[in-house]
Amino acid sequence: TTADRMSVSPPECLKMPINVPSKLLMGPGPSNSPLRVHYAMMKPLLGHLHPEFCKIMDDVKEGLRYVFQTNARVVCCVSGTGHAGMETTMTNLLEPGDVILVAQNGIWGERAADMARRHEADVRVIEKPAGEVFSLEELDSALAKHKPAVLFMVQGESSTGALQPIEGVGPLCRKYGTLLAVDTVASLGGVPFYMDAWDVDLVYTGTQKVISAPPSMAPIAFNERAMTKVNARKVPVRSFYEDITWLANYWGCDDMPRRYHHTAPISSVYALREALSIVCEEGLESLWSRHSECAQMLHRGIKDIGLQMFIEDPSKRAPTVNTIKVPEGLDWMKVVKYFMSKYMVEISGGLGPSAGKVWRVGLMGYNCTPENVDLVLKIMKEALEDAKKPTS
Ligand code: PMP
Repeated sequence: TTADRMSVSPPECLKMPINVPSKLLMGPGPSNSPLRVHYAMMKPLLGHLHPEFCKIMDDVKEGLRYVFQTNARVVCCVSGTGHAGMETTMTNLLEPGDVILVAQNGIWGERAADMARRHEADVRVIEKPAGEVFSLEELDSALAKHKPAVLFMVQGESSTGALQPIEGVGPLCRKYGTLLAVDTVASLGGVPFYMDAWDVDLVYTGTQKVISAPPSMAPIAFNERAMTKVNARKVPVRSFYEDITWLANYWGCDDMPRRYHHTAPISSVYALREALSIVCEEGLESLWSRHSECAQMLHRGIKDIGLQMFIEDPSKRAPTVNTIKVPEGLDWMKVVKYFMSKYMVEISGGLGPSAGKVWRVGLMGYNCTPENVDLVLKIMKEALEDAKKPTS
């Protein structure tokens, strides 16, 4: 009988209602989404090639052209989180033996190098200590030495809080026939970024940080130089799912009729459209200054309560992910726990090279407000007092 064959019963846990407390997410991501974005996800599902859905994808593409500041033809989303954008970069741009130079000053450079190795690229790394960034001179001499096919950089290194200047790197890359690929997952929308004006050949981001949609998609743009490299490949792209030629067709970026490639996460695309329309209503310039002002307010407040920022030079701090030094002898975890248990507010500890050394406070998109800065500072003051108390 059927019952004899079934070895698994409906689990007890699923008889309980789902438990989703309302938390204020002030860590390095995800950030909270506005209700408008949640409501957009409640709309009925459409088919992934229905004309109304294709129109929504086209709207998303236009919004992404605005946030990336590009008129590139190939602008679309990989269905997956920021990592999918990173994988799509590597799998499309690299063939076995291609030289890629990774500017590594935190965990994201490390991961990019790891992924590039999996694609059998010849990976060269230039390294900087956590919290530091690369100068144009350093990049110029590394490019001259390695003559890479691709230079990979991270604009907002969320593991350290460093903001890598990108302006000026594109023209250097062009001197050496190198493509410039930039990770803006933790920075886009929080600081200026101009794909076309800065000669960036490939850029990707995530949806759950400044854009303030749920995690689910990795917006990505390839310019014609990047597409020329893809089109000249000798070996096919090693991932069908992340093949940009297929993705570009599905997203209506070529002159061919759209073909079924995969089923887009329909509701997530609605959410992204709504989030992008909120970004467009505010405008990038206002968004950038809001991030800069809130970050400065946080930095001043941190100093006032006797703490120090991990990155000394304010111009090298990403306003989106703020790293605060954990004082010698203090239990950083106790502070993180205090935020959550008493206030349902998330801040996080360090990651990779900054693990144990910093707290990370995110100021991104919807959550980047003076009120939230005040709240974080107030809780931090209390949490420090609490952490200094001997544990009973
Ligand atoms: N790059 C950077 C700079 C990031 O901050 C993150 C997420 N913290 C990622 C890539 C990966 O994104 P995801 O977690 O959405 O896969």
